[in-house]
Amino acid sequence: MCDDAAPLVCSMLTPQAPSGIAVVRLRGQGAVALLGRLLRRPRGQGVPKGARAAYGVIWQADRPLDEVIVVPQSSSRGECLDLCCHGGAAAARSLLELFAAQGVEVRPWTRLMPRLPLDSELLEALLAAEGDTQALLLAHQMSGVLKAAFDSLARLLRTAMRETGVDNCVEPASLRILAQSFAFGRFLREPPLVVITGAPNAGKSTLFNAILGHSRALTSPVPGTTRDPVEARFLLHGLPVRLVDTAGDVEREVDSLVAEGVGLARRLLADADLEIQLLESSAIGRAGSERGNQAARDTGKTFRVYNKVDLFASGSAIEAAPASSGPRRGLLGISALEGAGIPELLGALSRRLRFTDLLVHDGPLAVTPLQVELLERGLAALRQGASPATAEAALARLESYAGSLED
Ligand code: GDP
Repeated sequence: MCDDAAPLVCSMLTPQAPSGIAVVRLRGQGAVALLGRLLRRPRGQGVPKGARAAYGVIWQADRPLDEVIVVPQSSSRGECLDLCCHGGAAAARSLLELFAAQGVEVRPWTRLMPRLPLDSELLEALLAAEGDTQALLLAHQMSGVLKAAFDSLARLLRTAMRETGVDNCVEPASLRILAQSFAFGRFLREPPLVVITGAPNAGKSTLFNAILGHSRALTSPVPGTTRDPVEARFLLHGLPVRLVDTAGDVEREVDSLVAEGVGLARRLLADADLEIQLLESSAIGRAGSERGNQAARDTGKTFRVYNKVDLFASGSAIEAAPASSGPRRGLLGISALEGAGIPELLGALSRRLRFTDLLVHDGPLAVTPLQVELLERGLAALRQGASPATAEAALARLESYAGSLED
């Protein structure tokens, strides 16, 4: 595996997730000498050789950086050392930074081994996974499910290179469904963005904290740049979500920024997969006349939620407006302050973001835009009237991405 002609490179081999140990690989000519300068072992021993693992401490200038177990990787051709350090990302990152400062090239570990783009894309997503469900679903795609779908497309394209008109059979239909699955499959790679908007004092920050407190917050809230929105991540059914509290009057911002044509509030809303538009329960009767009802805002990704139902002694907003009540269909009342309705809100988010589809999905999923592009290109080449040359070109692209069809 090691190649002494290769330059000196290092990579983190383990995911970013919290863990007991993290592993950094140092590979290439000069790896042992470099580590020899940085590693201190009891009784002044050097870098272990052969099949021996050894404990030591990596030093940076005059301070210890981390304790490690050095595991030489056996190779007749080159130098290759795995350093097992403290778990999580911080210790391993410090080691990588130390090696980089010594002139070592830091590479994503996927580049240590030649891999097909299909595997690399999925592996990179898996390495960056923050939730257990997310990791399991990606691992399932990597187990061959997605490759099998691409193989079936390759098979059809080969047929189309000989004869035209293979459309309208079962396989293209399932491949079309696969391309459409990107609508929620993409969330395995890029967490959805949920933005809380509403007038000042609607309770946005209280709701933001209630959601993070109720779920497992992955990152502590961080203030943003221009308009001071705050973002944090949390897990919903083991899938990460980006949550933004706009911390200002986005309605007003949007209005004023329409004139300017640009603005953070608009960009946030444009990028959002879901907008939680927070209103005070006292506004229920006025809902029809609100600006929030503007067609431009009514994009289907806006989810109106009524807050402060606790202020209604009895006959709360939830009771007053059950989910199925005609014009108030889908209306949800909560008390961000008391936590009432937060599980229902999270359930609604899960449905709207189609996490519920993801959770029960056991077939292939389109996870990256490139996969969708290859599928659509392949499907177009299968349509009636498409030339065999189109099929040949689509097949070449497909094979360079997913490998040759295993006949
Ligand atoms: P923001 O300006 O939209 O971020 O609103 P805040 O979250 O700062 O809340 C404004 C005020 O409303 C604060 O005094 C909150 O304690 C209060 N508040 C927020 N949610 C609720 C709620 O569910 N019930 C009640 N009674 N008060 C709430």
